[in-house]
Amino acid sequence: MGTLQIQPKTVENLDFWKEPDRQSKSADLRISAKHLPMLRNQGMDFQVMINDIDQLIQQEEQDLSSREIFTSNFVPNNLTLNEYHNLDEIYAYINSVASLNSNISKLIQIGTTFEKRQILGLRVRPSGDWSKKLPSIVVHGLIHSREWITGAAVLDLIDKIVVKKTFQQTMSKLEFYFIPVLNPDGYVYTWNTDRLWRKTRSGPTGNFQCFGTDANRNFGFKWQGPFSSSNPCAEDFRGIAPFSEIEIRSLAKFLHSISSSLRGYFDLHAYGKHFVYPFAYTRLVEAPEAEKMSKLARLAVSRINNLPSGQSAPFSVGSVARSIYNANGATIDYVKAVLNVTYTYALELGPSQHAGVNGFLLPQSRISEALLESSTGLFTVFEAIARGE
Ligand SMILES: [Zn+2]
Repeated sequence: MGTLQIQPKTVENLDFWKEPDRQSKSADLRISAKHLPMLRNQGMDFQVMINDIDQLIQQEEQDLSSREIFTSNFVPNNLTLNEYHNLDEIYAYINSVASLNSNISKLIQIGTTFEKRQILGLRVRPSGDWSKKLPSIVVHGLIHSREWITGAAVLDLIDKIVVKKTFQQTMSKLEFYFIPVLNPDGYVYTWNTDRLWRKTRSGPTGNFQCFGTDANRNFGFKWQGPFSSSNPCAEDFRGIAPFSEIEIRSLAKFLHSISSSLRGYFDLHAYGKHFVYPFAYTRLVEAPEAEKMSKLARLAVSRINNLPSGQSAPFSVGSVARSIYNANGATIDYVKAVLNVTYTYALELGPSQHAGVNGFLLPQSRISEALLESSTGLFTVFEAIARGE
């Protein structure tokens, strides 16, 4: 086992799929075959997870070409939840849900992207009563555009709560804001140009004229620090200033506007099976109400890990910094420290084992299993908030 410090400058196309994490003590790295001898020369111990990423992407494209495309004249039940859908389909879907369930849901616009796309969401009141103040919960996906399973997970919640009206009595005590695609420019780019794009599409910035900022390093709390990059070409580029990204400014403004009722906040990511809470910027400072967040997360995870898929590859619980790795300018740190939201979480959905699970390229055949894990965990927190905890 060796250590190696790798800078994006020294290796072209360096892309950490998973940062070195505290539990597995390993990292997942996308690297071209010609750089493998360098790892060997440094005495690094490594295993090849995926031999040929392009071939996997081609396989995925083939699967996508036979999917059921959701069009604007469809009813919500036409959505295939076990397949991925592009931005047009997702927006057609939430439009359809809102127009056919107008008593309990409304389409909302959170903002506009760098490339002038709309950031759309769905505001939901399962009770149908819009007059009184209720504890509210925000769930968003696809802040990192290549993490496709996270968009599917938000659509799955909409299906369960609005379309199928699951647990209606309990859910009627709550208000929800679902934002399936927080980074629409990046998401469109993953469908049309580069499947593994993570950042926004702002720019170009810097000497090398690189595009995109890591939206989850752009929030204005502990923004600058060692756990994000000042290099515009890096995957974790923090941006030229806090809130430089219009998507993140829009999200912050929206969250402030509802902060007096906001009790739960979920930022969905992939991959790795973690149910985590603030802080991300440090291991040394305990977040306010950490014990409350931890207790509920442990209950959620015990339910997830009782599922067949959880038994074979369990979720972990903890603060981001203590159980995964450090990050500066992260969404959940801001929501906790500045907006004081009691139940603030990030979930890492999808595979946790290295071999045979394809990282971000989670096959459609595995979507249902990931969604069951996600909804099992989220509903545990929703129920607790509905009980007034
Ligand atoms: Zn992510």
